[in-house]
Amino acid sequence: ESLPADLETAVMPRQVHNAAFSYVNPTPVSQPQVLAVSTEMLTSLGLEQQAWQSEQFLEIFAGNQLIENSRPYAMCYGGHQFGNWAGQLGDGRAINLAEVVDAQGNNQTLQLKGAGLTPYSRTADGLAVLRSSVREFLCSEAMFHLGIPTTRALSLILTGEQVMRDMFYDGRPQLEPGAIVCRVAPSFVRFGSFQIFASRQETDNLKKLIEHTIRYDFPHLMLDEEKLTSETYEAFFDEVCRRTCEMIVHWMRVGFVHGVMNTDNMSVLGLTIDYGPYGWLEGYDPHWTPNTTDGEGKRYSFGNQPQIAQWNLLQLANTLYTVIGTADKLEESLQKFADLYTHSSQQMYADKLGIGRHRGEDDQKLIGDLFACLASTETDMTIFFRNLTKFSQESELATWYESVKEAFYTLDEINTQTKDEFQSWFTRYKARLQVSELDSQDRISLMNRTNPKYILRNYLAQIAIDKAHEGDYSEIEKLLDIMRRPYDEQPEHEQYFAKRPEWARTKAGCSM
Ligand code: AMP
Ligand code: MG
Ligand code: MG
Repeated sequence: ESLPADLETAVMPRQVHNAAFSYVNPTPVSQPQVLAVSTEMLTSLGLEQQAWQSEQFLEIFAGNQLIENSRPYAMCYGGHQFGNWAGQLGDGRAINLAEVVDAQGNNQTLQLKGAGLTPYSRTADGLAVLRSSVREFLCSEAMFHLGIPTTRALSLILTGEQVMRDMFYDGRPQLEPGAIVCRVAPSFVRFGSFQIFASRQETDNLKKLIEHTIRYDFPHLMLDEEKLTSETYEAFFDEVCRRTCEMIVHWMRVGFVHGVMNTDNMSVLGLTIDYGPYGWLEGYDPHWTPNTTDGEGKRYSFGNQPQIAQWNLLQLANTLYTVIGTADKLEESLQKFADLYTHSSQQMYADKLGIGRHRGEDDQKLIGDLFACLASTETDMTIFFRNLTKFSQESELATWYESVKEAFYTLDEINTQTKDEFQSWFTRYKARLQVSELDSQDRISLMNRTNPKYILRNYLAQIAIDKAHEGDYSEIEKLLDIMRRPYDEQPEHEQYFAKRPEWARTKAGCSM
């Protein structure tokens, strides 16, 4: 039974069939103002350092003026949200302005987020508010400087418009300042971009998108200029698995929790994409998620991320299966994902500990037992690992506490049993360091390259947002600057290497 037409439009998003995208221009805004730019992005796009001061830059990246010869569009995609197929989603508030060749000769797509309604906006407004845009802008660049694959952010622009939001603060609708971030990536294609075609049995379109993606973003997989075979499709999936795995290992290394790992938020390039309710672990807790809408099961918690990534890859495999027709290679790649994750994450943890090459079961136990200790009392993950270099194979055992105590949130309450457990762990750690092939200098340098000192803690971003709401944008610039060198000692910014203050304990991320 079909619904009456007016009811259907009321409950169903407008369905855009037979299309990977729809042409749509940004909605002009009244009083745009550049709040921040990434100078690294300017350089990488071949723009001058002062380019952002021009009227043209402002008008283009506020969505008021089009780039010459460009035809902006919003992309159609679907996705599994929280494990359920959600049908068509699409770029509800993102518009691709143009595709350009950057200074290194790579293709880049410039995308405005928050630039107004698109055919995929459903019941929402197509806009973004200042707080979510500050979070997206800062975190994109922070992740880049951490060496983690991510979409980038070129600019953060205040629109001058007010946007209604019905969450947050006192729970009543609020007017908030609108903002637009220009995101940059070689491609914004998501797992869900393929899924939507399979779900609609639009097989030809699915093939077209796969081939387009391989030609433009995975050209090294093309053995034959003319014809793409099933083997190429399989190699493509294999590489998506590998890239996704690398991304997740990085997230686990730095304590990043994405928070909305729906298949529409999974980049086919293995880039971190869609900075919504993301957060950073402070006290180490594998069950923690910044997403307050994630129910009891905490599907998108820190510790679940590798598994969820694999589940998402399985959904992509299901989609590719509809055009490949056999599952063997796809299953093999999924298994390879699991093996590669195990292997890479083991070495990543060994690097965090500075013990050298991972030597198998005993090291695995050493690592696992440490994380059990960290979880047994609230322990700041970032501070713990960064300060772990202070303890060495020459250290008196008892000095372990002095080395890492800054990481404990409840110093006085660390009970004797917890202390004993840590102490016995440090006994084994010391012995392990003694047989490591790394000398002291190499160990410290490896650990400092693996364990960042500065991360975009949730409360730090919040302070920058609060100040921005008062018209002071200086903290955004300051955080951007600190996050440029996350692995370096920055004595003048020591206060940014600190535990979350108590007031920030329950403040979760904010997404909309
Ligand atoms: P997300 O949870 O951020 O991945 O968003 C899920 C879907 O909602 C995507 O299709 C978004 O484009 C859409 N969406 C989120 N916020 C808005 C908004 N303010 N206006 C229009 N669409 C939105
Ligand atoms: Mg999204
Ligand atoms: Mg989002």
